[in-house]
Amino acid sequence: MPTLIDAKDQPNGAPRLPEDRPRHPEKQNRPDTPILRKPSWIRVKAPTSEGYLETRKIVRDARLHTVCEEAGCPNIGECWTKKHATMMIMGDTCTRACSFCNVRTGLPLALDPDEPRRVGEAVAAMGLSHVVITSVDRDDLNDGGAAHFAATVLAIRAAAPTATIEILTPDFLRKGRAAEIVIDAKPDVFNHNLETVPRLYLAIRPGSRYYASLRLLERVKERDPSQFTKSGLMVGLGETLDEVLQVMDDMRVAGIDFLTIGQYLQPTRKHAAVDRFWSPEEFSALEVAARSKGFLMVSASPLTRSSYHAGEDFMRLRAAREASLGR
Ligand code: SF4
Repeated sequence: MPTLIDAKDQPNGAPRLPEDRPRHPEKQNRPDTPILRKPSWIRVKAPTSEGYLETRKIVRDARLHTVCEEAGCPNIGECWTKKHATMMIMGDTCTRACSFCNVRTGLPLALDPDEPRRVGEAVAAMGLSHVVITSVDRDDLNDGGAAHFAATVLAIRAAAPTATIEILTPDFLRKGRAAEIVIDAKPDVFNHNLETVPRLYLAIRPGSRYYASLRLLERVKERDPSQFTKSGLMVGLGETLDEVLQVMDDMRVAGIDFLTIGQYLQPTRKHAAVDRFWSPEEFSALEVAARSKGFLMVSASPLTRSSYHAGEDFMRLRAAREASLGR
């Protein structure tokens, strides 16, 4: 069963407002885990630039959510200065309860049918050449939100026809052929993060299944080989090097083009603890190993996130495919 978190109502029977609820009700009773001091290569400056403030205004004016803010991403200063924000559709409340994630959990509100249009207009207003769209998990919907995702891709195509579109989707677990609705909207890049090694799924992604996530990306390639597929891993959760190398092999068997690997950072004391910080040299070694396994593109560094530098990386990805085809 998907992990559904039900929000308690107010004493008068009215539904509690989102801001009244604890952000992670399922984690309230977990013991605190100490947050390890970050090494020097992880620290980033607080965002203050003009570009950052402009991006924030566009996002606020369009009443959009971003995973940059919701997940407390350390790269927000750099990305937003360059007008690169990853929009998060279908609300700010997720029906899963992953132990690494800082996105609010609970029972979400109904979908906003006007959201695809607003996202398209925001992409046009920001003048983006490449946009990344992600979402919360919506296990409460029959199609997991697939039709809304597809509508958003089409609305961006209409409002900003030259922008390339990358989507970072949920797994559509137990939603039949819902994923095919999203694939048929023809994003340029279909990304779904495996996040961690299979041994840690029960602790880190309890509502998800490793092979279902892998298979989702394989289905994208089977249905539309022209779409790039992309997936990401976090390290620092207790995985071993051998396990990470095995996941790389699994991804190659599923035809995944682009692998991202970054350091897991613990959002609060109630979240999964950092097991260790992998060093920049270890990330470089992971990148070499992944490239040797045949990925078209690899990005591995402590601050790599699946949408970090996504625009520049998309151009490299396209060039790598053309080079591999001998054009
Ligand atoms: S890396 Fe991705 S999530 Fe983080 S700030 Fe940049 S665009 Fe947002």
